[in-house]
Parts: sequence; structure tokens; C-alpha cells
Amino acid sequence: MTKPNPPAVGIDLGTTYSVVARLDERGQPTTLVNAEGDRLTPSVVLFDGQDVVVGKEAMKAMSVEAQRVAECSKRDMGHRVYHRVIEGKKYPPEVIQAWILNKLRGDAAQQMGPIEQVVVTVPAYFDEIRRKATQDAGYMAGCEVLDIINEPTAAAVAFGFQQGFLNASGVAEKPRRVLVYDLGGGTFDVTVMEIRGTEFLALATDGDVALGGYDWDQRLANIAADAFQKEHALDLREDAAAVGKLWRECEDAKRTLSARPKAPIVCEYRGKILRVEVTREQFDEATLDLVDRTRFTCVQALQAANLNWADLDRVLLVGGSTRMPMIRSMVQQVSGKAADASVAADEAVAHGAALRAGLILAKRNGQPANFSIRNVNSHSLGVVGIDPQTKRRRNGTVIPRNTPLPVTATRVFQTAKDDQRSILVQICEGESPSADDCTAIGRCSVTNLPPGLPAKSPVEVNFHYKSDGRLKVRVHVPKTEHQMETEIVRENGLSKEHLDAWRQHISGMEATEYR
Ligand code: AMP
Repeated sequence: MTKPNPPAVGIDLGTTYSVVARLDERGQPTTLVNAEGDRLTPSVVLFDGQDVVVGKEAMKAMSVEAQRVAECSKRDMGHRVYHRVIEGKKYPPEVIQAWILNKLRGDAAQQMGPIEQVVVTVPAYFDEIRRKATQDAGYMAGCEVLDIINEPTAAAVAFGFQQGFLNASGVAEKPRRVLVYDLGGGTFDVTVMEIRGTEFLALATDGDVALGGYDWDQRLANIAADAFQKEHALDLREDAAAVGKLWRECEDAKRTLSARPKAPIVCEYRGKILRVEVTREQFDEATLDLVDRTRFTCVQALQAANLNWADLDRVLLVGGSTRMPMIRSMVQQVSGKAADASVAADEAVAHGAALRAGLILAKRNGQPANFSIRNVNSHSLGVVGIDPQTKRRRNGTVIPRNTPLPVTATRVFQTAKDDQRSILVQICEGESPSADDCTAIGRCSVTNLPPGLPAKSPVEVNFHYKSDGRLKVRVHVPKTEHQMETEIVRENGLSKEHLDAWRQHISGMEATEYR
């Protein structure tokens, strides 16, 4: 008899809100409420002396003590430190994300008992560095991250599940092509997927890591702050607390504008007050370029998948920001189809992640898989080479973007001189031929090459890009049996010692083996 599987938990770690889902006894994904009784937890962290508060209370603190609050830290993933100093401290963004994950894990554990194994979602457009940082955040929060999956893929899985594609009896009779349009709080992602029965195949993916509902909030904030400045000759944007308060007002007004033709925004600064009324037309006009940016990204993804709007069966809307009527009408206009909002915009991603967690845990327990996912890489991966003529640093692409994953590719280098004992491989991600315009992921050194190698000896560097978008590098020196797996030294990553110290501090858990 097989053991019962540990609980399958999926976490949508969003820029502005996060959601946790689990699979119930019948294998149905359900959203868990947090300690405050809400399904959505604001991804906001308040550093209050020794105490760290995450969620609604931290969000409330934004209007009074903004300087102690970290919001939208997901946008800074991949950078060394969060963009603002908090109480004199520079926090790595993944540490702030770890506090959020720790709260989500703790709240879920209150209802389900201890949990460790989770699947966390990331925007499809996240690069390798951001994925690694997300995995590190999970580790510091005391979790074992079973997999990192793309948010649009997770949404498509939830959609497929809801449509009955995942039941043996409900296998779809013909492949369906779905464009997942995912506009969250801080990121925009588009993925073109083909659903063939129980197989979920990503065909192409594109996106923008710095475009989301937050940008729409900012436009409203500017309308209001400009009006305030005109009235009172004061710019409230110079004060962090006033900005924090205004942001909350604007986020509220934006939601109102999704339901009504106008919304009030109250600005308060230095004892002066102004009530600004914004109409939906005004809002639509002020954000036209943002909507257009998302449309353009959709077209690029369709082109990469060799499809047209007409080839799609559905356009699936996910992410809270797709509730804005301007998004629905744009999608309807360009695709000729009513946008499909049949999955719960805020919860679909977490549900898909829980289904994925269930699949992994079942497989670990020797049970058959009821669906499969095939991903593509969202950025080309290459190595830095020097152009012999111009001496410029070039990006030699090894794995082009939108290649189905997992994939293994090999590039052969040559040693430059006799008896060379080491080689340095610099890895970069991006589409430009110039290495300086790409993101440096890290380096790996191949040391201890066998002595006596003649110059120009081949050295094979093998990249293995896994389905979760993480990279492994192996090096092989032909004819010498010299084979090694090398560690990538990451540009902005935390060391194992730091990760362990943070893990202990944030989650109270001891270090474990982790790479
Ligand atoms: P997500 O990351 O998918 O939870 O999306 C969060 C974003 O959706 C935030 O920017 C919210 O302000 C936005 N959002 C949620 N509900 C609405 C709504 N009714 N109208 C407009 N934006 C919304």
C-alpha cells in the first residue's frame, strides 16, 4: 500500500498580493485563508524593531511609517539589495520575499499542520537569477521548494483542471491553443500554450517584469498629486508617508473605476486636503500607452509561436489587473474573442501550483502522473566570447529563447596555451549580440584541468537548462576523462552561509543541504 502523500501546497508569491492553495482530499485545489481570515495576503513587510509584520497590518502601516515598510520587493529580485534602505538596513529582496513566504507557510500550517514542501510560481519572464533568488527565498522561509513554475502555465493548468481536461474521462478531443494574459500587481506575462488533453505545452512566452497594476496606480497618483500641487502649490510626492497614503487611496480608486464610471481620491499633506474626482475616460487615457505595451508583447509572443490571433481558441485572463475594463476591451478588440475570465483571476495561479505540487508528490510516492507540463525558456542563454577582430565582448547564444525545456546544449572551447590548467566561462542571458547589453548570470571556473594539455585542446561546456528554468553546467575534457559539474558563481546571489543564517533567523529552522 502506498503512503498518503504529504499535503500539496502551491504559493503564488505576487508582487502586491500572495495566495496559498492546497489540494483537498478529493484532489481539488482550494484557496487557504490567512491568519486574518483573508484569501489574499498583501506582499508587504513592516520592520518594527525586533518584530517583522507581514500582510494587512504592514500595508496599513504604509501611510504612517512608510520608511519601515517594504512593498513590491518582487520587482527588485535579482538585485543585490532592495531599492530603499529600511531603518538603516539594506535588505536583499529575496530576504523580504522570504519573510512573506514564512508568513504564508506559518498561516497555512495553522490549518493543515506543518508544511515544508511547496511549489512557488514566478512570472514566465523571470530570468535565471530571479528564479534562483525565489528558490533562495523559499529556503530561507524554511521550505523545500519542489519546483518553480511559471504563473501563466499554472493558470492554464488550473483552467484545464476546471474544464475537466485532467480527468481521464474528460480528455479534450482536440488540441486547444490558449493565450494566457497575466497582468498582476507588478509584472506582465504572456504565454501561448497548447493544451493537448492532459499535456500542457508552452509554445512561446514573453513579458515585462516592470509592468503591472502598480504602474496604473502610479498614473492615478500623478493625476491626483498634480491636481493637489495646482491647488495648494505643494508637491506631496516629496514625502514618503504622503506617497504611501496616496498609493493606497489610488489602488482603491482604481478598483472602483473597474466597477463605476468615476472615483474620488483624497489627497492630504501638511494639513491641506483635496478631493480629486477621476473619471474612467481620464484613467483610460492616462494609461493608454501601458495597455498598448501589453498588446505589443502579446503580438510578439504570437509571432514567436508562429500563430495569429485567429488561431487561438481562447484568451485566458489572469491577474487582478485584468479586472480593468480597458484590458478586457483591448483583448476583445484585437483577438475578436470575448476574453475568458472563467478561472478566478486572483486564485488560478496558486491553484495550478497546488496541482503541480500534488503531481510531484504523487510521483515521488510511485503514483502515476495525471498531467504533464512542458515549458520553454523565456530568455536566450549564452556565453561571453571575445570577437577576435573588434575585441568586443560578444554574446554567443547557446540556447535560444522559447526552446522547449529541459534542454541540453554543448559548446566547445579551446585552451589558449600549452599546459593551461583553468578556464573561465562567463554566462549571460539576453537577446543582444553584445554581451554588455545582456544580463550577466555568473561565472564558472573550470580548474584542475589535467597537466600537459596542448594549446587548442577542446573543452566541452555543457549547459543543462531544467524545466524550472534553472541552469546546471558540466565540463568535459575529451580524451582525458576529466568531467566535472561546476558551480556557477552568481553575480548577485547570497552565499550558503548567509542563506543558512537568514533561514534560522526567519523561519527558526536549521540549515539543510541546498544548492
Ligand atoms: P495579482 O498580483 O494577480 O493579485 O494582482 C494584483 C493587482 O490587481 C493589484 O495591482 C491590484 O490593485 C489589482 N486589482 C485587483 N482587483 C482589481 C480591480 N477590481 N480593478 C483593478 N485592479 C485590480
